[in-house]
Amino acid sequence: SDSHFPVPLSPSHVDYSLHYPQLFPSSDRSDGSKKIEFADIGCGFGGLLISLSTLFPETLMIGMELRDKVTEYVKERILGLRVANPGQYQNVSVVRTNSMKYIPNYFEKGQLSKMFFLFPDPHFKEKNHRRRVISPHLLDEYAYVLKVGGIIYTITDVEELGEWMKSCLQNHLMFEPLSETELDADPVVKLLSTATEEGQKVARNGGQTFQAVYRRIKPASQE
Ligand code: SAM
Repeated sequence: SDSHFPVPLSPSHVDYSLHYPQLFPSSDRSDGSKKIEFADIGCGFGGLLISLSTLFPETLMIGMELRDKVTEYVKERILGLRVANPGQYQNVSVVRTNSMKYIPNYFEKGQLSKMFFLFPDPHFKEKNHRRRVISPHLLDEYAYVLKVGGIIYTITDVEELGEWMKSCLQNHLMFEPLSETELDADPVVKLLSTATEEGQKVARNGGQTFQAVYRRIKPASQE
């Protein structure tokens, strides 16, 4: 249960020296140094983060994962890569947490430039829709931690969930879809279906995928 993992009181309580020891030798960040910018929500075995780490070597990123053993696996995976590739993979980490409850404890307003929701659990039954990791209510929270211009990436092999995520985003005042041209130009979009373990499984089985990629905007009324 939640009581088994510590939760930082606020984003300033997140200990960067534990997550990125080479980049933050001490836990003192009063100099206002770099903050985490990418969050992979329900990161599973971490394939996306590993790909992003070398694609964006200057960007700090973190995976959030509910399952203890899976989180430990990702930790070990990152440590192994750091040892095998000195100087690399220092910008990536993982934390065990319930992202549906604790996002605001980790990130402050406008901190993130990218959030990822790759192959989230579907929760098919109507009464379980509120347990989905994309919902109108949670999108308010994601809009809060994303900076204007930040991007939310979602993909699933469950058509109904794909439609649900897209309609939640489409109906939210603070998000607009990327154009086809923008999607083509974004190297991250190509990773959505290929970089994660779940994506690879779907591809092996020849499954279809449904993606929705939206930008955090300033609603017209606030301009
Ligand atoms: N994104 C990964 C991929 O594409 O391979 C994993 C997909 S897996 C189907 C969904 C993951 O979300 C699981 O590892 C699950 O433990 C995690 N998860 C589910 N609910 C969560 C929550 N509330 N907070 C954090 N992680 C969660």
